[in-house]
Amino acid sequence: MDLAFHNFTINPVGLSAADGRKYVREVHEHLRWIHRTVSGRTLLNVIRRPTFPVEIRPYPGADCNARGGGEVKPGAAAVSGFVEYSPSTFSSTGACSALPAAENRGRLWDEILFHELVHVFRNATGKWDASAPLSYAMRHYNNNEEFIAVMCTNIYVADRSNKIKTGLRAGHRGYTAMAPEDAMRFGLFTSSRNAFALVKKFCDDHPIFSKALSDRLPDVVYNPVADYYRFPRLCEALSIFGAMKDRAQLRASLTSIGLSGAFVDRLLDFLM
Ligand SMILES: [Zn+2]
Repeated sequence: MDLAFHNFTINPVGLSAADGRKYVREVHEHLRWIHRTVSGRTLLNVIRRPTFPVEIRPYPGADCNARGGGEVKPGAAAVSGFVEYSPSTFSSTGACSALPAAENRGRLWDEILFHELVHVFRNATGKWDASAPLSYAMRHYNNNEEFIAVMCTNIYVADRSNKIKTGLRAGHRGYTAMAPEDAMRFGLFTSSRNAFALVKKFCDDHPIFSKALSDRLPDVVYNPVADYYRFPRLCEALSIFGAMKDRAQLRASLTSIGLSGAFVDRLLDFLM
């Protein structure tokens, strides 16, 4: 993976000389893993812009996290991309190792980096918008941007050219595994009423990237973008099941706080 070609810089800011060299080596290696896959190469190519440099630097927090997106550096006239990512956070002795062993979906080094690079891509294309509403059964994605990053990373995990990986991640709250009924073709569209609209918006925002994900990975076990392009009417029709799931999940959560079932049903009839 040619850093200069992609307009990427790995900046080991805050680290000693020896730690800095190790940091650059490790991050470059994880970028190479991404670049070796079909979906990873596709993402890196759509991020690449001569006018949009991307800086990867250590994550400054001590928690189990990484960040990515766009920023305007002091004195700069335009937005550039950044990722705050430290391989050590996601190593066996890092902050994430405190999580239960089973909660590891999407938590390998390159999977984390891929996720943050999707955030960078959304900024590179000027499409970043975390305010789009999510229906009830999609709340575990937190917002539209995290939904997009988790969905694309799940496609990266499903990509057969990606040989070393964890598994499909359920959402953005933690790193638990996706439920089996969601982890299959069309599963996403039956999971919530507005899954179809969100996938459609993503594809409309990024025709080149989304068509490449669809055309180059048509037969993998999880690729909602390919499902959308091949069977758009079916995906839209499945939203009816998604609406039922939204209602069922909201009902379960309202009755669990002590409201009577009859009252909750009347409320939901009014609301949905
Ligand atoms: Zn994210």
